[in-house]
Amino acid sequence: MTDQAQVKTAVAAVAGERASVRVDAEGRVGIVLDATGLATADRDALEAKVRVAAALPGVTNIRVVVTAERTARRLLAVASGKGGVGKSTLAANLAIALARAGLRVGLVDADIYGPSQPRLLGVEGIRPTAQDKRLDPVPTPAGVPLLSMGQLVEPGKALAWRGPMIAGALTQLVDADWGAAELLVLDLPPGTGDVQITMIQKHRPAGAVIVSTPQDLALIDARRAIDLFKTAGVPIVGLVENMAGYACPHCGEVSDPFGQGGAEAAARALDIPFLGRIPLTIAIREASDAGRPPALGDDQVFAPIAAQIAAWLARN
Ligand code: ADP
Repeated sequence: MTDQAQVKTAVAAVAGERASVRVDAEGRVGIVLDATGLATADRDALEAKVRVAAALPGVTNIRVVVTAERTARRLLAVASGKGGVGKSTLAANLAIALARAGLRVGLVDADIYGPSQPRLLGVEGIRPTAQDKRLDPVPTPAGVPLLSMGQLVEPGKALAWRGPMIAGALTQLVDADWGAAELLVLDLPPGTGDVQITMIQKHRPAGAVIVSTPQDLALIDARRAIDLFKTAGVPIVGLVENMAGYACPHCGEVSDPFGQGGAEAAARALDIPFLGRIPLTIAIREASDAGRPPALGDDQVFAPIAAQIAAWLARN
């Protein structure tokens, strides 16, 4: 006979109040483990400890069911079918605009091909510290804490990584000590390959924002990105058109070398919301390169898009 009290004591010694334990007459142990608030690695470690603790003489079988209250923190993916369309620029400025709209936001730069967020947010070269192997996000002058693949590895190195290493690194970024952040904006690598699929499946964003430029080709790529999320069951918040029209810095006149309304029409055809257009301006490029995100200033461009996203998040 297994002593129920002994098993309970042993499990409580490692898991405290988080575990509730039952032992039946055949020595089968059932444990319900409440992992609310624990990072994935801590949860796995606790489960392993509980199993070891429960394995007393006479125990024939151990079942552990891990539960967690739905974490309040959600991920919002910013994605594009190809590189160079302004996905990182949008992710940074949306994170800031969402924070200015009152949300508690963090930014995760998962772009292994070109992690540009440290530069965009003016914290290039600053490494995150860690406590008990858990990373502390890097504070930025824009007020949005950041963790980036670029802070973990030297530029270009992550390209040689294999899938599981990339997945492991991303988990470290997402499961970091984000404190009170309720939303993590996730700057995904461009494209629709295995890396993106793994990231999406593992971290299940609450929704995805797709960025495209007005060119036809980019929109075809955007369609692929949309399909990727739809297949994975991740809702599309909407499509943002970047580099839409060129605003002349001298006279302010906007010209549209690639025509107008392409992305909006594509969004309609794809039955996804159109969230807005961001013009191609020298001001956006210069501010971004200097580590001064334009959404921090007198922002007429990113705020309306962020407002729609905030409304979507409140509904979903
Ligand atoms: P991606 O993340 O899709 O590769 P980036 O955000 O790095 O693209 O943008 C690529 C380049 O285009 C950067 O130099 C950026 O400053 C510039 N850029 C992005 N959006 C705009 C815009 N609306 N107006 C001017 N330059 C832009």
